[in-house]
Amino acid sequence: MPYKFTFDLSKISRFFFKEIATVSYQRGMHKKVGRTIHEVIRRFKIQEATGLNLSDVVLLLEDFMEIQARNFLERERFVQTRKRALFLPHCSRKYMDSRCEAMFDPDIPSYICAHCSSDCLINQAVSSAEKKGYDVYVLPGGSCVPKILKNKHYEGVVGVSCGEEIKLGGGMLKSMGIAGQAVPLVKNGCANTSFNLETLFSIL
Ligand code: SF4
Repeated sequence: MPYKFTFDLSKISRFFFKEIATVSYQRGMHKKVGRTIHEVIRRFKIQEATGLNLSDVVLLLEDFMEIQARNFLERERFVQTRKRALFLPHCSRKYMDSRCEAMFDPDIPSYICAHCSSDCLINQAVSSAEKKGYDVYVLPGGSCVPKILKNKHYEGVVGVSCGEEIKLGGGMLKSMGIAGQAVPLVKNGCANTSFNLETLFSIL
């Protein structure tokens, strides 16, 4: 289920995400969070930068931290996998209309990127992941994931999506015994969503 609010963290300093990773590690390993979330929100002026109310920011950051903590915990198992897939959200394509030259294959189901725009996030993610041997899917929605996983029997999966979808997907991977890693969107919505490519490249 998507968030009930829209957000855009794409202009927030990289140090913010490093701080989230550090705090998440502490959370996963030592189970102590205390007032850390509120301190991070205040230090990086997240409310001022996004216009979100405090409860929405806290929900967002708690999800970010849960995702980071799971990434840490799953990392060792993930790096030992061989057959891997990357799931990308179609809403991060540069264009959502006919200017996007990707073909949609309903049998998979996935968009097949035609690499029409060098500055398209999806193009860059697809190219990098395929070089590393990943099967890449550009999905119109999270409901496509179970069908692909049942047909392909992957050992490891990297998912890029909004935090709520990642949490749902994480439960599915766990029940299927698949090692997962995830990259949360830093800007949500129905179109022009974005994720951090550096974060994705460090995970692949
Ligand atoms: S690079 Fe790929 S995903 Fe991006 S707009 Fe072109 S065909 Fe669509």
